[in-house]
Amino acid sequence: MLVAGNWKMHTDRDEALRLAAEVVRRTEPEARAVDVAVCPPFVWLDAVRERLHGSRVALGAQNVHPAASGAFTGEVAPPMLAALGCRYVIVGHSERRQHFGESDAFVGEKVRAVMGAGMVPILCVGETLAERDAGEAEAVVRRQLDGALDGVTLDEAEALVVAYEPVWAIGTGRTATPEQAQAVHAFIRERLGARFGAAGRGVRLLYGGSVKPDNAADLFAQPDLDGGLIGGASLDAEAFAAIVRAAQQTGA
Ligand code: PEP
Repeated sequence: MLVAGNWKMHTDRDEALRLAAEVVRRTEPEARAVDVAVCPPFVWLDAVRERLHGSRVALGAQNVHPAASGAFTGEVAPPMLAALGCRYVIVGHSERRQHFGESDAFVGEKVRAVMGAGMVPILCVGETLAERDAGEAEAVVRRQLDGALDGVTLDEAEALVVAYEPVWAIGTGRTATPEQAQAVHAFIRERLGARFGAAGRGVRLLYGGSVKPDNAADLFAQPDLDGGLIGGASLDAEAFAAIVRAAQQTGA
C-alpha cells in the first residue's frame, strides 16, 4: 500500500514544516507496513526534505517539466527534483490537464522523463462527470493511459504508480463508491498487464477523490486498490494519519 498526500498550492513555510513533522510523528508505526509520501509545493521541498530526514516518509513533487534543462522560464526539471531527494512526482493531475491544458502526449513525456531521472511517476487518470454519465469512463481512462505510457518500458512494477482520480470526486466531498473505484481499477490493472506483463499487473493503483478517514477503509478493502492519493485530508496530519492507518489495517 502507498498513501501519498498532495498538498497542492497550500501551506506557508512554517505550516509545511509543522505538517511534515506531524506526519512523521503520527505515521511512524504504520510507515513500516505502508509506504507514505508527501508532495509539498516546489518551494518547500528542500525544507520539508530536511524535516523528513531519517523517517520513512518519502518526498514527492506535484509536477515537473519533461526537459532535463533549457529555456523554460518558471519550470522545474526532473534532475532538479531528483537532486532534492524526491522519490515520487505526480504527473497528469486533472487540475494540470484542466487549467493548464496538458495533453496525454505531454503527460507521457513527463512520465518518461521522471523515470529517466530515477524517480517514480504517480500518473493520474480519470474521467469528468459528463464523461461518466455518457458511459465513457473506461474509454477516457484507456486513452489517458495509452497516451501517457506510449514509449514507456516497464521492467519492474515499482517504477510506476497510477492514480485513478475521477474528476467529479476531487475536492467535491463526493467519493466514488468502493465498487465504482474497484471496477475502474480492475480495468486499469488488466490494461497494464496486457501492455507490460507481470510488471504491469504489479503496478500500484491508488484511488484519489475525497478520501477521508471515514471512507478510506471501505475503499482500500477493494482488491485492486493499493492505496490513495489524498488532497484535502492530507493537510490535516491527524486525518492523513488515520487514512494511513486504514491502509495498514486493510493491507495487512
Ligand atoms: C487530489 O487532488 O489528488 C485529490 C484526491 O484531492 P481531494 O482528496 O481533496 O479530493
